[in-house]
Amino acid sequence: MEHAPTHQEWQRRAAALRPETRAFLGGGYTEAADGRTFTDIDPATGKPVAEVARCGAADVDAAVRAARTAFEDGRWSRAAPAERKRRLLRLAELLTAHGAELALLDTLDMGKPITETLTVDVPGAAGCFAWHAEAVDKLYDEVAPTAPGSLAVVRRVPLGVVGAVVPWNFPLDMAAWKLAPALAAGNSVVLKPAEQSPLSALLLARLAAEAGIPDGVLNVVPGFGEEAGQALGRHPDVDALAFTGSTAVGKLFLSYAAESNLKQVWPECGGKSPNLVFADADLTAAAEKAAWGFLYNSGQVCSANTRLLVESSVAEEFTARVVEHVRRWRPGDPLDPATVLGPLVDEAQANRVVSAVSTARAAGATVVCGGTRPARPGAYVDPAVVTGLTPDAPLAREELFGPVLAVLPFAGEAEAVRLANDSPYGLAASVWTRDIGRAHRVSDALHAGTVSVNTVDALDPVTPFGGFKQSGFGRDLSLHSFEKYTGLKTTWLHYGQDA
Ligand code: NAP
Ligand code: MG
Repeated sequence: MEHAPTHQEWQRRAAALRPETRAFLGGGYTEAADGRTFTDIDPATGKPVAEVARCGAADVDAAVRAARTAFEDGRWSRAAPAERKRRLLRLAELLTAHGAELALLDTLDMGKPITETLTVDVPGAAGCFAWHAEAVDKLYDEVAPTAPGSLAVVRRVPLGVVGAVVPWNFPLDMAAWKLAPALAAGNSVVLKPAEQSPLSALLLARLAAEAGIPDGVLNVVPGFGEEAGQALGRHPDVDALAFTGSTAVGKLFLSYAAESNLKQVWPECGGKSPNLVFADADLTAAAEKAAWGFLYNSGQVCSANTRLLVESSVAEEFTARVVEHVRRWRPGDPLDPATVLGPLVDEAQANRVVSAVSTARAAGATVVCGGTRPARPGAYVDPAVVTGLTPDAPLAREELFGPVLAVLPFAGEAEAVRLANDSPYGLAASVWTRDIGRAHRVSDALHAGTVSVNTVDALDPVTPFGGFKQSGFGRDLSLHSFEKYTGLKTTWLHYGQDA
């Protein structure tokens, strides 16, 4: 096994890196049609990582045409499920084999600690491809209970050309969550990665080709949302658009579809997930996980537990315990394997988070710790815990996407549930209690796509991930993800009753 690289070794590799920066269209790399590029910045240093192809409408159109041609001639869409499985499993192996390079690309692009990209993101993406590949030759279709004399076969068929637009917080994994089921089901895909983190998707495209995914089946168009993203959302020949990102942009994709060709849109959007801690819980475990729940990936997680609802009788003591854990999450260089907390994705985001905390302070809230920029270069923010908020304060309601915890006390189950559900979002929630009846009652009452009991943010390819309300209605992962990338097709065969 390869020796785990040291901080110095990662720095050496980062300096030597020459990433692929061109779009991947129809099976090969190419510059943007008009030759434009944009600068990809490392948020830990503020320095440029690469000049990346800035795709526009012409490039998106070329990608969609390549995807359509591939879909119609059946080079992938009509391959046997077992054959698609074989090649996608090979892709999973290649992702693992190139794990160190993929991890480095995501770390440099968006600042996530290298230990996370290496041990969570890369295995997560490889596992996602393997899981959906394994499933695809084990799914049976239906025969409808028609009257005698006819046979109605109800099948799930691929949709055609799928557009995927993803965010920067888990660059490789968000791409994998869309690509694995969409490709396994037989679709062609055009992927637009986030402008802050295009590099791992561009390497993934080459590995997919190496794994035997035919030309034109997977295309990657890096660029800006308003340009490449919008062009994909409005394209008349895209059949479905799978989106992960903010609620505001999710709404734009719904209007793009309404104003163009009524393509199916699957939005997976933001959250402000509540973590409900009752006085009878294992408070030691709950405190540790409460800190993890809003600090992991510097709080840039759609399902981050950023609202801590804690029973009044233990609120003060529990908050103090959480703060003790928070103090151990010290910002560090993401290329250092010991670092647990990296910078935010960019300067703008870091400044937005700091200003939201100071606005709350000015409005009378208590900032127990953090909320400032540490004295070091890079888009860092010291993790903040804020108390004394009213439930309608912006910090208690709006998604901030940074390491900030809003603490709100409650008295009893009913108030806990009311506060938790008083949100425009409904992505995830956590409940901590030793009372099994309460665990079920409260879980049943929470409006959330996933409720984790006595842990936070439980997640696995075997269960669907997605939400309610303005968190969107798409579901990634699990067999349910195939529902987004296939349509129901019925074939009636009338054969009469007389033998
Ligand atoms: P974002 O600003 O909504 O961007 C997401 C993607 O949409 C990016 O590729 C972006 O391109 C593109 N985009 C932006 N404006 C667009 C426009 N006008 N038309 C078409 N496309 C456009 O979100 P983000 O800041 O990257 O990511 C953070 C958000 O993602 C948070 O709200 C978080 O909750 C959400 N998220 C949700 C889930 C989930 O599964 N529910 C998972 C992870 C993250 P650019 O890169 O050029 O802006
Ligand atoms: Mg970047």
